Amino acid sequence: MGNRGSAANAIERVVIVGGGTAGWMAAAALSAHLAGTGVSITLVESSDIGTIGVGEATIPTIRRFYAALGMSDAEVMQACQATAKLGIRFVDWLRPGHDFVHPFGRFGQDLKGIDFHHYWRKARDAGDPAPLGDYSLGALLASEGHATLPAPNPASQLGIFDWALHFDAALFAQHMRRFAEKMGVTRIDARIVDVGLRGEDGFIDTLTLDSGVRVRGDLFVDCSGFRALLLGEALGVAYESWSHWLLCDGAFAVQSERAGDPPSCTTVTARSAGWQWRIPLRQREGNGLVFSSRFQSDDDARNELLANVPGKPVMEPRRLRFTPGRRQVAWKKNCVALGLASGFLEPLESTSIALIETGIERLKSLFPDKDFDPAVTGEYNEQSAEEMERVRDFLILHYKLNGRPGPFWQACRAMEVPESLNGKLALWRARGAFVRYRWEMFSPASWLAIYAGFEDLPDRIDPAVAGLDADQLRRSLEGMRRSLQETVADTPSHREFLEIMDGAA
Ligand code: FAD
Repeated sequence: MGNRGSAANAIERVVIVGGGTAGWMAAAALSAHLAGTGVSITLVESSDIGTIGVGEATIPTIRRFYAALGMSDAEVMQACQATAKLGIRFVDWLRPGHDFVHPFGRFGQDLKGIDFHHYWRKARDAGDPAPLGDYSLGALLASEGHATLPAPNPASQLGIFDWALHFDAALFAQHMRRFAEKMGVTRIDARIVDVGLRGEDGFIDTLTLDSGVRVRGDLFVDCSGFRALLLGEALGVAYESWSHWLLCDGAFAVQSERAGDPPSCTTVTARSAGWQWRIPLRQREGNGLVFSSRFQSDDDARNELLANVPGKPVMEPRRLRFTPGRRQVAWKKNCVALGLASGFLEPLESTSIALIETGIERLKSLFPDKDFDPAVTGEYNEQSAEEMERVRDFLILHYKLNGRPGPFWQACRAMEVPESLNGKLALWRARGAFVRYRWEMFSPASWLAIYAGFEDLPDRIDPAVAGLDADQLRRSLEGMRRSLQETVADTPSHREFLEIMDGAA
């Protein structure tokens, strides 16, 4: 370790394997981060193998990701056929005919430092039927098919919301690629046929391409998709399956013609043994049915999807298979995996691309030297594992709380959930409070959206709220609802919003 921190110990060559969303996002962000350091970045992808071709719904962190590269919302939206996403609308999850929106933002105005939902609950107990979503600007905009930019300094908590994008995954990867290549990233289009390990320590040393060319590197970023060519196949990191908690193990995906004005949210509708997504883009829509092969045959799933696609399909449905879970570690020796190579959780809350972003941020902040100090690798792995487990718990919650008929849904309800989720549920039910772990992608407002959306409410109200005058509370809540409705009435429709953004591009 004598050369620790010295120039001789610094990483000189980064090699990224894979040119899907993960590979090109990593190439763009690392090329910006390492600009001027002399570190070379090479990306190897195989156009023969191609990319997974799905992954079109995001959460608001994506906007921070490309803003850090100097890209505006308007620019990215135009380049990627994007529409605005104000949240996710859950249809038929609690019971057929029921729906609610999980918005990117908060609910109501906290009073006297006590969470708003306690006031809402008290009013509800007193007979006020207004759902929690009536107190969320984001949820109302999404329900009405409107969209607008959040005010930079909202007058009250009622004005706080955030937004994300639906985009064409291939166009987004191309946009990232243009940026990365401008920043000096070298792209090689070839199939990797061999991964060579160093004899002395088993670190990855060389990739051999089908052309016979050999690519050497110091740090390898595995973005090779489900196959995990480097981390899984070459370094032997096993896959930890969570399929006993998340029963869906595959999907059919199909693109269709646009059907009417694009909604400003993703729609996820519960089906017989899983759920269907609808993601509106400018010129087309993305649709898919995520399902459990233990409970539904391929033919039934395909037919169920096609019977419920709003526009005319423009392709044959594609069958995709996955195992929910993650690689036991995301970083081993000199190889870090991002995207599908590091693990996968079904796209119910659009978390895959967001996990790529946080993985890249983590890699930037823990960027190693050639000695790959185990303290650095260990911290990266610990943070990644915890973050993914918390996302896992959040997804399991959606299934656990369902009230639908049918064997698949009954099995989800009856399932034993992880202890970490049990603890959260217990505190929520006992006291209407939220457990927060260190690496949580979803804020208490998101947990609240799901608890309340599934009508799973605490056993008791905060004692400071319980004694409030019911009439005064009713008037206060009515005032909030009125103010939000007026705001929504003043905002553009989603279509108008897209035209405004095009004008700004
Ligand atoms: P891929 O797109 O599979 O790319 C792998 C790359 O590795 C390709 O370029 C390939 O050519 C290359 N490669 C592989 N082997 C070799 C080799 N031997 N030599 C050279 N190159 C090689 N995420 C979201 O955030 N939102 C969503 O709405 C969403 N929906 C999804 C729906 C489904 C059904 C599925 C399965 C996933 C969804 N995801 C979603 C996840 C999202 O698609 C992925 O996280 C994202 O596309 C990143 O994929 P990737 O780049 O890791 O892998």
